[in-house]
Amino acid sequence: MELRSRIPSGAIESKWDNHRFEMKLVNPANKRKYTVIVVGTGLGGSAAATLSELGYHVLCFSFHDSPRRAHSIAAQGGINAAKNYQNDGDSIYRLFYDTVKGGDFRAREANVYRLAQISVNIIDQCVAQGVPFAREYGGLLANRSFGGAQVSRTFYARGQTGQQLLLGCYQALEKEIARGGVQMFNHTEMLDVVLVDGKARGIITRDLRTGAVEAHAADAVVLATGGYGNVFYLSTNAKNCNATAIWRAHKRGAAFANPCFTQIHPTCIPVSGDYQSKLTLMSESLRNDGRVWVPKQRGDKRPPGEIPEAERDYYLERKYPSFGNLSPRDISSRAAKEVCDEGRGVGETGRGVYLDFGDAIQRLGEQKIRERYGNLFEMYERITDENPYKVPMRIYPAVHYTMGGLWVDYNLMTTVPGLHVLGEANFSDHGANRLGASALMQGLADGYFIIPYTIGDYLATAKLEKVSADRPEFVAAKDGIEAMTKRLLGINGKRTVDAFHRELGAILWRIAAWRAMPLGSSGRWTEFPSFVKSSGRT
Ligand SMILES: Cc1cc2nc3c(=O)[nH]c(=O)nc-3n(C[C@H](O)[C@H](O)[C@H](O)COP(=O)(O)OP(=O)(O)OC[C@H]3O[C@@H](n4cnc5c(N)ncnc54)[C@H](O)[C@@H]3O)c2cc1C
Repeated sequence: MELRSRIPSGAIESKWDNHRFEMKLVNPANKRKYTVIVVGTGLGGSAAATLSELGYHVLCFSFHDSPRRAHSIAAQGGINAAKNYQNDGDSIYRLFYDTVKGGDFRAREANVYRLAQISVNIIDQCVAQGVPFAREYGGLLANRSFGGAQVSRTFYARGQTGQQLLLGCYQALEKEIARGGVQMFNHTEMLDVVLVDGKARGIITRDLRTGAVEAHAADAVVLATGGYGNVFYLSTNAKNCNATAIWRAHKRGAAFANPCFTQIHPTCIPVSGDYQSKLTLMSESLRNDGRVWVPKQRGDKRPPGEIPEAERDYYLERKYPSFGNLSPRDISSRAAKEVCDEGRGVGETGRGVYLDFGDAIQRLGEQKIRERYGNLFEMYERITDENPYKVPMRIYPAVHYTMGGLWVDYNLMTTVPGLHVLGEANFSDHGANRLGASALMQGLADGYFIIPYTIGDYLATAKLEKVSADRPEFVAAKDGIEAMTKRLLGINGKRTVDAFHRELGAILWRIAAWRAMPLGSSGRWTEFPSFVKSSGRT
């Protein structure tokens, strides 16, 4: 397979400008003749409204009951942009540099530079939509710091930034649905991509209420279906986030990149028992004011209030003084695991560290902390029944975000012509293993600002004949899905799907989350054969 990244020539600062000029356009009257399928309504799915505004006919799909249930709604801390409102040394180049470095130098630099350039437009677009970003007393937009950055460039709406950004997208989408530009299919899960003459020309779906399997044809397909963190079973993703769409696209020939590149977020509520099906993130923004510590002594079971200052180890401040509690996510996660492995972890299971707001409350007052993080504190108290204004939070790392995904070129197209992938579902441009607040930025950059140009170039140059959903390729794909469903339902097994998922997730967490997989002498993953046997698959 040939991977053509199609990075434009020229200096990095001018690649995107030149490319936008060089790409072919579809004139307004012709746009009406094209149908584009967009699967997903999160921030990456912002493409649906944008493409419809441009004049394309859009079919939009989501397995949720409403577009605004997309998991982007869970994002808490904020979104980065190189606005340099704080005058603290930020610039497009610095955001580019931080992101490439944060991404372990695996990101495609031309994409990341474009992302940093576009970041400033995203904030303007969202403000124009009415997204209520936090403001300073004088009315200017406020910023806070996030891990791995030494400037304050994160725009936020309390601890519900994703929700507010998604409401902006959702309103734009609803407007286009009402206008008739977007046909919305809620409760509808995509199960396959259909290729005609090697190009993506449609999808197969199932209506989750009636079970009806249907085929939908289009001129191009856009997947914005989110990440695959749930393969680990326990993660900060919602239970129904799944990898069906990208997996089916991969089976149809779309290359997958960096599958092992998973972000373990250091600030989550620790696992408390086998009954759990998901973990809860406590936003990284909390580490702006919270201090991370464990007792110096192993096995110290005293309540935190009884452990004197001299017997506490503020290990992030000690080991990484220039970043302190806002050390990058991978470093903070590994450091937490290390102190717990040493026997200094806190809580009943010993797999937890404290995130303590005592100093900040003393310095700023409880009201200020409530204003900044009120909803997060409330959420923590509801889950743990502990009041974080009085006792330190307990946190532990958890799977949070996937940087791998379907491989895309500079135009966000996969190795299957016509199949484009946006947001967390693609192998990201960004440094999310260290930098928080870059996933929302990427989703909106892809959906609002990049795909509107690049899909036009594809449609204008691809020479597409009209296809309809009764073609043999669609019928065969639909039959394949129905046969697969029948086979799975016909197994009549004794264990639930969830039981297999839980077991597989535990294996992955043990052997793949923190380090490279141990390979057996045969070169195979050693724990998998027994799982495969017990799941009845060969
Ligand atoms: C708890 C939490 C907090 C976070 N906080 C931040 C933060 O502060 N800042 C930041 O930058 N990032 C944050 N992130 C990461 C960020 O929220 C996500 O990476 C981003 O929102 C993903 O957006 P998306 O549009 O790619 O996918 P999603 O928002 O997950 O949307 C996926 C969409 O695809 C649809 N879909 C999926 N599969 C199918 C299918 N087979 N058929 C039909 N529809 C399908 C779903 O219905 C949904 O509409 C956070 C993530 C989590 C889990």
